[in-house]
Amino acid sequence: MSISKNLKDIKSILPDHVTLVAVSKTKPISDLMEAYDAGQRIFGENKIQEMADKHEQMPKDIQWHMIGHVQTNKVKYMAEFVNLIHGVDSYKLLKEINKQAKKHDRVIDCLLQIKIAQEDRKFGISAYTASTLLQSNELSELKHINVIGVMGMATFTDKTTQVEKEFKLLKSTFNKLKNLNSKLKTISMGMSGDYQLAIDCGSTMIRVGSSIFGARNYN
Ligand SMILES: *Cc1c(COP(=O)(O)O)cnc(C)c1O
Repeated sequence: MSISKNLKDIKSILPDHVTLVAVSKTKPISDLMEAYDAGQRIFGENKIQEMADKHEQMPKDIQWHMIGHVQTNKVKYMAEFVNLIHGVDSYKLLKEINKQAKKHDRVIDCLLQIKIAQEDRKFGISAYTASTLLQSNELSELKHINVIGVMGMATFTDKTTQVEKEFKLLKSTFNKLKNLNSKLKTISMGMSGDYQLAIDCGSTMIRVGSSIFGARNYN
């Protein structure tokens, strides 16, 4: 299986309203270039330093998405070029993104990460916290960030019913938040193992790594 073939297969079943983020974490530039040459322009990374290095080396018409957990003190290393930050889970982080974006005269799009999984290890905030945040005066003062939607990760399990329940929770949370803020448009959910289910549940953005680039080797 080649990267370009994998990409083509996934894109062939993708509805027009769903965006594919090619998750290239741990993969070498040569693999990313293969995806680029096949037409892919949106790449997702989960480490800021790795994303910044790849941004340096890759063509400049790529959109870079930060899909991992973001440490406040590292925002400055991506503020100049990042297109979408998926894992925003606090006002403090939004404030820092705003501050760093301002330095570059940019407005950075962000997604609020909602905790939908039962597992404790998954990051994210509750629907209630997200709605409070969205309605706060503090948020309206941040002119260099733009919250455009939500992101979530389902429990790592083979139980489809569990994953489906969690995806539906993210979709209904999105609907509630959209009533508060009609600008919201993006639901980032679905990975290699569950993107079809995620699309059926209302995803508008899937984050796919191993089904494009093959299994990751963390050694
Ligand atoms: C690694 C990662 C993915 C992609 O995972 P695959 O199972 O390889 O498709 C998606 N989202 C996040 C947040 C990730 O860290």
